[in-house]
Amino acid sequence: MENLMDKIVSLAKRRGFIFPSSEIYGGFSSCYDYGPIGVELKNNIKKEWWKTMVHDREDIVGLDSSILMSPKIWYASGHLTAGFADPLVECKKCKKRFRADHIKEQAATKCPECGGELSEARKFNLMMKTFVGPVENDASVTYLRAETCQGIYVNFKNVLDSMRPKIPFGIAQIGKAFRNEITPGNFTYRMREFEQMEQQFFIKPGENKKYFEEWKKIRMQWYIDLGINKEKLKFHEHAKEDLAHYAKAAFDIEYDFPFENKELEGIHDRGDWDLSNHAKASKQDLSYFDTKENKKFVPNIIETSAGADRAALAFLVDAYHEEKVKDDTRIVLKFHPKLAPIKIAVLPLAKNKKEITDVARKIFNDLKTKFVAMYDDSGSIGKLYRRQDEIGTPFCVTIDFDSLEDKKVTVRDRDTMEQERVEIDGLKDYFEKKLG
Ligand code: ATP
Repeated sequence: MENLMDKIVSLAKRRGFIFPSSEIYGGFSSCYDYGPIGVELKNNIKKEWWKTMVHDREDIVGLDSSILMSPKIWYASGHLTAGFADPLVECKKCKKRFRADHIKEQAATKCPECGGELSEARKFNLMMKTFVGPVENDASVTYLRAETCQGIYVNFKNVLDSMRPKIPFGIAQIGKAFRNEITPGNFTYRMREFEQMEQQFFIKPGENKKYFEEWKKIRMQWYIDLGINKEKLKFHEHAKEDLAHYAKAAFDIEYDFPFENKELEGIHDRGDWDLSNHAKASKQDLSYFDTKENKKFVPNIIETSAGADRAALAFLVDAYHEEKVKDDTRIVLKFHPKLAPIKIAVLPLAKNKKEITDVARKIFNDLKTKFVAMYDDSGSIGKLYRRQDEIGTPFCVTIDFDSLEDKKVTVRDRDTMEQERVEIDGLKDYFEKKLG
């Protein structure tokens, strides 16, 4: 299925989903840019995550913390000490570098590129260093955050004092994270700059198992509800020796990507590692006072950590279909309507006929007050449908000469390709019912 990935990468570029970063300068490996269609897809994913994780719940609040933070945070969290490093091996012949654990997974003992001998593994820290202020010295060093959750832990007390939430409660945040990955690759699967959607659920110690199981279920169901084929999703439990430095237990939600079954999201039981370490290092009290039990304790944390880019890639791969239509093959992205970048395309059948384009423009202007819509008159109807299928638009509206007489338009369904005539006056209600 390697081939499918090539098709996805090419479609992503051709149709404005994802472009290689800095392309006119020859590219900048490990970074990608979302184009006009891709940004809509990614925003829809983030919007759905925020809705189900924050707005639909009484017990979770949002946060938007800064990317640059005190470097003390990264010492206390373990990222700059032993914890946040991957084992790096170098080929003695071609000098390429690899992650030793990935090579082990491939059961390789020699360089996967040239067969050369590999060096001993050494620890490579993934934090991205930068300088703050006009002087570049040790005192001005800080790091681009490697995960968004540290911003949540260091704001725990602020949220507690300002919002007075009762345990159990969660804090959620979406934002960029940076890791100096040894081997980025597989398109947007592993990048050096990416976006996370993380939620930390603060609980009473001892209730870890209950909430861990609850969050596993909720997060798995989120992908299924947004249309991912559930046969392609599975849990992977981390063995004790593979756990990250902060975790007591970890399950990944994996998706069957064309290159491999790989992690989409991690659910972690972080115990009291984060709050205890930050309390010690900052000399602040980060405990919680339970008024019901008249008891003070350091909350434990169940974390759900998803990648917006990996989710976008999984939704893209999963939506991709090729279908035989007569002698042709149509490529269609069958996104869930909530995720579809464009919901409705308005297509006038005769772009030089003012009577028709006037009606089409009026319909478009009306629909776009409610739905993300696109007006397109730049080709034959066959080409226009093809373009909309390839970006996953659930409905196309065509306006023709008959529309001038019967005040109806043709609505085409992306998945069934069935067409029906719908009254212009009732279009908004029609789509309201179909798209919600
Ligand atoms: P991996 O084992 O693939 O390196 P991880 O276990 O280190 O990932 P976490 O630290 O649990 O990943 O990060 C949580 C989520 O953030 C991941 O499930 C993934 O969706 C996303 N993520 C992590 N690293 C990257 C990356 N380099 N590029 C894109 N997304 C990433």
